[in-house]
Amino acid sequence: MLGGPGAGKGTQAKRIAEAYKLPHISTGDIFRTHLREGTPLGRQVQKYLDSGQLVPDPLTCEIVADRIRQADCAGGYILDGFPRSLPQAEEFQRLLTSRREGVDLAINVDVTDDEIINRLSARRSCPKCGGIYNLKFNPPKKGGACDLDGETLIQRKDDKEETIRERLRVYHETTEPIIAYYGKQGILKTVSGSGATPETVFAKIEEIIAATGVA
Ligand code: AMP
Repeated sequence: MLGGPGAGKGTQAKRIAEAYKLPHISTGDIFRTHLREGTPLGRQVQKYLDSGQLVPDPLTCEIVADRIRQADCAGGYILDGFPRSLPQAEEFQRLLTSRREGVDLAINVDVTDDEIINRLSARRSCPKCGGIYNLKFNPPKKGGACDLDGETLIQRKDDKEETIRERLRVYHETTEPIIAYYGKQGILKTVSGSGATPETVFAKIEEIIAATGVA
């Protein structure tokens, strides 16, 4: 899943994972779990996450390589938030080639910067189950609590306006070029996420997956 911060790639990746029974690998979630648990990796990546910068490519690639070697990934998986730079995309390609595997499909959720800023400042998540809400567009049923487990929702530290602007800058400069990288390989599909509900975007993704026959 490709897309800017707050484009909805996490929400969509979770839905795809559930619908097609695939492991959902989010590098952002992996880093946040380490941060929360105070592991050495968590301490190493904290400054990047807090400031909206990318974690260095070699470290990020190593984490993904370890994860996809696990048994549950043997039948495929959905990557959310990785790769996020050309060197990551190229390193990942080398890794897959060495395993005689490849990327089947890259789905890019496209949303305007203004909408991203609007969305992220209202984004909240459940610290227990990882559920994602938006106070304006997808509010929880009861106050500030998760619909599934009642846990109090929290705002991500990097969803503050200043950090959102920095993440957008990093996205345009470093991450956007990988859209062309997958475009050249003929495996890129772009879905407009602007002004669309998560349900509409997911319906379009299901159509793409059915049409390309990858799952
Ligand atoms: P996300 O949850 O995908 O928005 O990621 C949150 C933060 O984790 C990013 O702003 C980066 O600091 C870090 N991060 C996640 N994925 C990557 C990646 N593929 N490469 C480098 N840093 C990443």
